[in-house]
Amino acid sequence: MSNETMKIPQATAKRLPLYYRFLQNLHSSGKQRVSSAELSEAVKVDSATIRRDFSYFGALGKKGYGYNVNYLLSFFRKTLDQDELTKVALIGVGNLGTAFLHYNFLKNNNTKIACAFDVDPEKIGDSIGDVPVYSMDDIEQYLIEENISVAILTVPAPVAQQITDKLVKTNVKGILNFTPARLNVPSSIRVHHIDLAVELQSLVYFLKHYPNDEVEE
Ligand code: ATP
Repeated sequence: MSNETMKIPQATAKRLPLYYRFLQNLHSSGKQRVSSAELSEAVKVDSATIRRDFSYFGALGKKGYGYNVNYLLSFFRKTLDQDELTKVALIGVGNLGTAFLHYNFLKNNNTKIACAFDVDPEKIGDSIGDVPVYSMDDIEQYLIEENISVAILTVPAPVAQQITDKLVKTNVKGILNFTPARLNVPSSIRVHHIDLAVELQSLVYFLKHYPNDEVEE
């Protein structure tokens, strides 16, 4: 992200891709403007939050007019670095990793899994969804040469930290960690942790214990 966005609160920054995806849909259906109420209904974020978020981008909606879709889209494209393709490495070509390689992320934004790594000789040398699978022996050199800044971890939890220690020696600045392991990294590296089992368990817990409560933002 550009320096300009550093001032945006993190909670707002996290919602940017959500807004961006919805605005892209609006744009392709030919819509020129959108009200915060419409946006709110579509992305399920309350309209006061949307107005506050958008005020950070200098996008001030006009009463009775709403927001200009093209203006917002070009802002998001710049802010989310959509004009630049971010190359991502995936490590661990198991069930989850394979699913991501098939899915890739190009439909939603300009990130692309460019390469994958594994230790299994049966997988090394293969291509899945056009993404080549390389040996872990070559990972550091490859990531440095290709200047890859983001890695997705879909390996077994016990090996997650040792792999992270290798990533730290490259130009990787962000790790999307799908393993249950909590990773130690220097402060220059950002880790986003997605534990699918915990998310599922927590959803089931909430359904059981708070069945009729309103969802908090
Ligand atoms: P599968 O059925 O292919 O084994 P899985 O998702 O059940 O998939 P896991 O045991 O979670 O398997 O492992 C995920 C992937 O991580 C596997 O492809 C495995 O070969 C790979 N892997 C295991 N250890 C490492 C490591 N140290 N470095 C890189 N990849 C690894």
